[in-house]
Amino acid sequence: MRRAVAALAGSILIFSTGFGAQVGSSATEKSVETVVPAREKVQIPKSVYRIKTKDKVAFITIDDGIYKTENSLAYVKANKLPITAFLSSWTIKDSQKYFDEFTQWGSVQNHSATHASFAKKSTDLNHEICYVQKRFAKKYDWRPWMLRPPYGAAQDSQAVRKMGEKCGIQQIVMWDASIGNGRIHYADSSLKPGSIILMHFTKSLKNDLELAVRKIREAGLEPANLDDYLPRITSAPAMLSVRAGLTQPAR
Ligand SMILES: [Zn+2]
Repeated sequence: MRRAVAALAGSILIFSTGFGAQVGSSATEKSVETVVPAREKVQIPKSVYRIKTKDKVAFITIDDGIYKTENSLAYVKANKLPITAFLSSWTIKDSQKYFDEFTQWGSVQNHSATHASFAKKSTDLNHEICYVQKRFAKKYDWRPWMLRPPYGAAQDSQAVRKMGEKCGIQQIVMWDASIGNGRIHYADSSLKPGSIILMHFTKSLKNDLELAVRKIREAGLEPANLDDYLPRITSAPAMLSVRAGLTQPAR
């Protein structure tokens, strides 16, 4: 099921031509090797809204981390749900165990330090992105490789992608559906294979999770782990090989 990560063999071609292949431009199912050279250009691709896959899967992502409700955690554990938690470091406090348990079938990723908009000129991107990378690794042993900008703002900006790249981010992840307060909203008209659902750690998260699972199953899909489709790439410290076939924005 898992698509093979692009090999590094393509780097020879790219370096000999002197410029990077376009990232994420492939709309085909065919596996294409794409390697972007280090330094001159931004390595990490533009943000992904939906994974391009024929697998019958959808992905639950939950942001911020403000409320830590026990009933939502119990629901995740009872159903072994793969959750990708995009956490802002100010919301964690001493709740490492809670989020470790919550993401035991998924992962913790980066959602900024203070939840400042990346679109504001006054925002210190180094602090918002890189501080979180260092703090999560040092204090909690979480090593994010995905980033979700607060409010989904400036998600494709060069400045954000460059700063992310500098600090170990490999993917910027958006969404094509959202659930909150018992309601679902679609960027298109429905959940599709590879859909990424945005949710939040709210007081009513358990109800929203139940709705997410119901809607995913009604669409003929199953919750899956986003890591399996956007895995950390560790074999290429000097360059990032990008798996082919990721979708461009679905909206
Ligand atoms: Zn947020």
